[in-house]
Amino acid sequence: MTAPTSSASPLPLHVVACASSPGVEAFERVFARADELARQALDAGRRVVLSAADPLGVRTAGVPGVTVEESGPSGLSVRFWTVPAARFARELGADADILVVEDVRALGAVRPILTRETRVCVVSGEVPPGFEADASGLLGTTRTRPAAARATEGGEVLVIGAGLAGAFAAAALADRGRHPIVVDAGRAPASEASALYSGLFHPHWQASDSPVFQLTRAGCRAMAALRSRVPEAFVDCGVLDVASDADEWAHWCEAVRQGVPFPMPEREARLVGRDEAAALCGLPVSRGGWWFPGSGIVHPSLLARRLLELSGASVLVHTPVRLRRDAASGLWEALGAEGSVMARARHAVVAAAGASPEVFGMKREDYGLTRLYGRISLLRDTDLPTLKTALTGAGYVVRLDEGFTAAGATYEPDGPNLSAPEAHAHNLEVFERLLDERPELLVGGFYEGERAVPLDRMPVVGRLLAREELDKRVFRGRPAPEELPVEPGLWGLFGLGSRGLSWGWLCAEVLADAMTGLPPRIPASLAAALHPARFAARRAGG
Ligand SMILES: Cc1cc2nc3c(=O)[nH]c(=O)nc-3n(C[C@H](O)[C@H](O)[C@H](O)COP(=O)(O)OP(=O)(O)OC[C@H]3O[C@@H](n4cnc5c(N)ncnc54)[C@H](O)[C@@H]3O)c2cc1C
Repeated sequence: MTAPTSSASPLPLHVVACASSPGVEAFERVFARADELARQALDAGRRVVLSAADPLGVRTAGVPGVTVEESGPSGLSVRFWTVPAARFARELGADADILVVEDVRALGAVRPILTRETRVCVVSGEVPPGFEADASGLLGTTRTRPAAARATEGGEVLVIGAGLAGAFAAAALADRGRHPIVVDAGRAPASEASALYSGLFHPHWQASDSPVFQLTRAGCRAMAALRSRVPEAFVDCGVLDVASDADEWAHWCEAVRQGVPFPMPEREARLVGRDEAAALCGLPVSRGGWWFPGSGIVHPSLLARRLLELSGASVLVHTPVRLRRDAASGLWEALGAEGSVMARARHAVVAAAGASPEVFGMKREDYGLTRLYGRISLLRDTDLPTLKTALTGAGYVVRLDEGFTAAGATYEPDGPNLSAPEAHAHNLEVFERLLDERPELLVGGFYEGERAVPLDRMPVVGRLLAREELDKRVFRGRPAPEELPVEPGLWGLFGLGSRGLSWGWLCAEVLADAMTGLPPRIPASLAAALHPARFAARRAGG
């Protein structure tokens, strides 16, 4: 297959704004200066990323995690981090081209972590000893060390799998100037799990700030930003998460009273009583619940197909492949049934859900992957025309077009293990749990698919392991995931589980950032929870 070439876009200038003293004023001062410097560079024709520590949540409404604001019309991409300034500086300092801090004192705190040629801007106070200020207010270089090696200089990237994960990866890579070549075994893109007609994305509120919750809520924000690109794939109806019993409702009320794990901004999540919940969704729900006004329904197959079109990807369907790295050229080759090379590129992303490990000669266990089959019952909605939102809780109910409603879903380990009547009965129980009454419904067929779910429920995002090299290594004690050998140019985005819509796009952006040498957009601790080698490291340690 020949694919059009495109040149990789140059690395952007990374401006990092780090206000370390508490107070909105300090944040605004530092941010305003960083914004000014970023815009100057933008006017001079540079591509710019501005990362700002926002521990008080001035711009992010106080929810810990990371908020991503994608490039506006001006082309300036701004990322706000709601993490403590010291941690932010640790995580981003090494990546800064220009670091903006308040004063000499603040510079002292972050200086030890500067490992690149970084120019510093001190917003107030005198010029620190050892620095010269130039006309723009930027100070001399702090240290000179070569920039960390950055990946994917070449323009083309192979993507194996054209479901949501593959489409998200293709779109995120195209945004960064790469040309995706997407290969899928199915008869069309999004013909497996992502064939789902309608699914929900919402923050899945939790009382603890676990990595799962961090990734889900950051993912929903990223997903909401994607809406403007493919509006036809989104239904902005909000999602109502109804408490499954009186105990859960009491627990949620108590958590909100105590501000645990932190107060959510109302535009993202609000706990509502039963009457308000019923008015919002248009049906007599049995209890109150979480109202997520910014969340909604997505048509995954439509979204995946549109994103592939918009990314300008070359797409090859009906082509099951496995990957092999040609030692002489260093290129990854997608080999078809007869061993013929269907496509090749220096970098490859495996996004083939549960089949991913086999695509590059490894096993599911190496990535902690399990299979969870699921069915959704399709119903004629004789009594549900008043339903205005998506309903979730113990299961979910979504109104589809043309008089159908979807209710479900089943969770069947390793394939179908319920009979069809049992699966429908399971799915229809959702009405008893969410509503006071069970409406008159006519059962039609199923939507069915298989979720690829890692044992810890977190997706797999990043560089993939080098099997042969790993087999040769002997470790004393449990190695850290980053100590395990990786294949050059081989990346993974799979194991999206039941939340591909909530966090898939963010994961693709995290991956594409890493592949193209962009600064990280999620905290290192969260990135570690996605590390592809996390299961193999545990096994290697015995
Ligand atoms: C019943 C059910 C309900 C769900 N509801 C929701 C929901 O409400 N919200 C939500 O966020 N998520 C939901 N999900 C999960 C969501 O559907 C998945 O997270 C998402 O679709 C996974 O996308 P994917 O691209 O990883 O996998 P897939 O869509 O399965 O794509 C993998 C692709 O890889 C291809 N492939 C495999 N092997 C090869 C090979 N050797 N060569 C080439 N191509 C190959 C396949 O053909 C396939 O197209 C639900 C899932 C199910 C089953």
